[in-house]
Amino acid sequence: MAHTTISKVAFIGTGIMGSAIARHILDAGYRLAVYNRTPEKADALVAAGAVRAASIAEAVRHADVVFTMVGNPEDVEDVYLAGDGILANARKGAWLIDLTTSSPDLARDISEAAEVADLHAFDCPVTGGEQGAIDGTLTLIIGAEEGSLPEQIEELLACFSAKRCYFGHAGAGQTAKLCNQVSFASCIVGYADALALAEQAGLDPHAVLDLILSGTGTSGAASSYAPKSLAGDYKAGFFAEYLRKDLGLALAHSEDFGLTLPGAETAYALYDVLCQIGGARLGGQAITLLYSDEADGIAAGVDWSRAQQDEGDECDCDDDCCCGHLHDGDGCCGHHAH
Ligand code: NAP
Repeated sequence: MAHTTISKVAFIGTGIMGSAIARHILDAGYRLAVYNRTPEKADALVAAGAVRAASIAEAVRHADVVFTMVGNPEDVEDVYLAGDGILANARKGAWLIDLTTSSPDLARDISEAAEVADLHAFDCPVTGGEQGAIDGTLTLIIGAEEGSLPEQIEELLACFSAKRCYFGHAGAGQTAKLCNQVSFASCIVGYADALALAEQAGLDPHAVLDLILSGTGTSGAASSYAPKSLAGDYKAGFFAEYLRKDLGLALAHSEDFGLTLPGAETAYALYDVLCQIGGARLGGQAITLLYSDEADGIAAGVDWSRAQQDEGDECDCDDDCCCGHLHDGDGCCGHHAH
């Protein structure tokens, strides 16, 4: 495997996850250039020693490795493939690593386009949540063959992760991540159903959750999200709209195989409603608001009167949208069928 010297790293997208991951890279001693669409979200990193870039081109021009951690597939497409994006501006031989949860097909396209431009690109979505990013203990889901990455890339990845799983080829990391999200989403719906039943039956939901967490009903979703739901803490570590995005991607991908995913379809429908009524930027745990009194919902910022039109009403958004209901508000009616 080719020897690679890494000293300069660029990081595009310093939101909830990106800012915490980039901090580990900085702390590990790499020279870090950062770019975020909303510049203020990179302020803390700049104060800690990162160099602020005024554009993607400026951030990546001299970088040995470029990380991206943006929101949706169209953001990924934009930052990599636009005329002023990464592929057009990265230096020859650079490594491009996308940490965003995005489309498997897009990851493959980017990898192929990078190869043509004498660059190396692979998908590397993550799991472990905001806390995992802060602690540097994420699991990385890598669209590359184990043993195929230079040692210095492995070292760099290790500075913000505890486990790295390899899935053989570009795009496969995204597919594996979507599998994780399908399982995760059904676990969230599972605990939300359970807590609603407990409450209606007059049981103490805290006691029922305690039982679930020590019983066979437990899950990572229940242990990390259900206590927040019960406490009425809907602040996002992981935006509800991103889980809707992930489920939309998983459902679209399952169609490639003629496969039906009933659990994911149910979870998608619930998150779609939550996003429509104002919960897109609440945390995933806000799913329980769909089971709660209207007054609790309003207090948390969701409003059922914002639920969108009935099926059969005219859809005025882009028919080519393949990424689920990503464009909350302007552009998308939220009714693409999968
Ligand atoms: P986030 O806080 O929204 O961060 C995304 C960042 O990317 C934002 O700061 C955004 O800028 C920036 N961005 C988007 N498009 C851009 C563009 N075209 N150019 C430059 N910057 C751009 O989201 P997050 O929670 O960190 O999640 C990021 C990704 O990781 C998502 O795909 C999510 O599904 C996935 N993920 C999240 C978690 C979690 O627990 N949060 C866990 C695993 C995976 P603005 O500030 O201008 O919006």
